[in-house]
Amino acid sequence: MSMTTAWVLRAAMFAAEKHKHQRRKDADASPYINHPIALAHVLANEGGVSDADVLCAALLHDTIEDTETTADELRMTFGEAVTGIVLEVTDDKSLLKAERKRLQIEYAAQASPQVKLVKLADKICNLRDILASPPADWSSERKQAYFEWAAQVVSGVRGVNAQLELVFDDLYARRTTLFSC
Ligand code: NDP
Ligand code: ZN
Repeated sequence: MSMTTAWVLRAAMFAAEKHKHQRRKDADASPYINHPIALAHVLANEGGVSDADVLCAALLHDTIEDTETTADELRMTFGEAVTGIVLEVTDDKSLLKAERKRLQIEYAAQASPQVKLVKLADKICNLRDILASPPADWSSERKQAYFEWAAQVVSGVRGVNAQLELVFDDLYARRTTLFSC
């Protein structure tokens, strides 16, 4: 087994344990871990990404933001590079939501290529979820607002992976199907 495979599986195991009591916001309340796995899957299978640090960071991207995980804990297990990527995609929850949303747009454009890949995969997965299994209580307007904000974040990460940008653009074009809902 390659070292990459071993590290990616370790990150999957770690994230599964950390998110084990959490659920997504869809009507079925899907297990939360489906989402980080979807990011890693999109990066590897739709973006051709093989960078182990990026794939591990994708699996771990919501651990600090949404669980009790600390940066030091990630550092000890996965090292500085992976932890740095996760920290850059972690929102500061002490800020108001509107400010967090604005900062994501601002920081995306200044981020490293590895961080940009994780951000792009996150937005792809969330647009897919909103089209296929949206948060149960979201109006059509709220879904559309999320699409517009995601497109603003993604405009700052362009140039990092043409295939994934096409995947995003294809999903964004499907926002018109939300108008009638
Ligand atoms: P939220 O941040 O509240 O929710 C979106 C996040 O929920 C995603 O980024 C994703 O985060 C997570 N998530 C969990 N399950 C799902 C799922 N099934 N599908 C998609 N995402 C899921 O949303 P926003 O604040 O971005 O709201 C969208 C827009 O609506 C905003 O532009 C805002 O202005 C507006 N708004 C409207 C409100 C209202 O109508 N009451 C209230 C607040 C905002 P992750 O990847 O981290 O898991
Ligand atoms: Zn996410």
